[in-house]
Amino acid sequence: MSKKYVLKFSGLKNGNHEFEYTIDKKLFEEFDCEDVLDADLFMKVNLEKSEKQLELAFHIQGVLKVVCDRCGEEMDLDMDFDRKLYVEFGEEFEEQDVDLYVIPFNESSLDLSSFAYEYVTLEKPMRCVHGETEGNDQECNREIIEMLESPIEEIEKETDSRWDALKNLKF
Ligand SMILES: [Zn+2]
Repeated sequence: MSKKYVLKFSGLKNGNHEFEYTIDKKLFEEFDCEDVLDADLFMKVNLEKSEKQLELAFHIQGVLKVVCDRCGEEMDLDMDFDRKLYVEFGEEFEEQDVDLYVIPFNESSLDLSSFAYEYVTLEKPMRCVHGETEGNDQECNREIIEMLESPIEEIEKETDSRWDALKNLKF
C-alpha cells in the first residue's frame, strides 16, 4: 500500500485544515478492482480537528473510466459528490457506523485510501451504460450494437480433416 493517502493529524492545531489528493488508476489496482479502467479524480478533504474527534468532509470530483454494460467499450463517468466521516478515539480500530470510525488513542495518522476507494466504488452505479447512466452523455459503439442485434449466424461445422484423410485411404 502506498503512503499517498496517509493524513497525519498529530501535531496539527485544533481547527480547520485542508488536504488535497489526486486519485488515479493505482488506487483501484491496489484493491484489485477490475471494474475501473482508469481514474482522473481530485479529492479535497477538509479536516476539523478537535480534542475529542476528527471531522472529515470529503469532496471528490473528476472522471472515472469504466466499461459500458451494453457495448463493452470504455465510458467516462463524471463524478462530483461529498462524504462525511467522523473519527473518534478508543481502544482499538472499529468501524462503528458507515460514517463513524474509531481509532486507537495512540494513532497519529489516518490512511484515507480505503475510504477513498469505497466512496468512489459505491458512488459508481451498478449498471453503467453510455448515455443512460447519470454522469455520461456518450454513445454506445454503434458497430458493436448492430452486431449484437443481428441474428446469430450459424457457424459452419468444421469438418475434421483427420477423418477426411482416413476416408481417402483405400483398404
Ligand atoms: Zn456503450
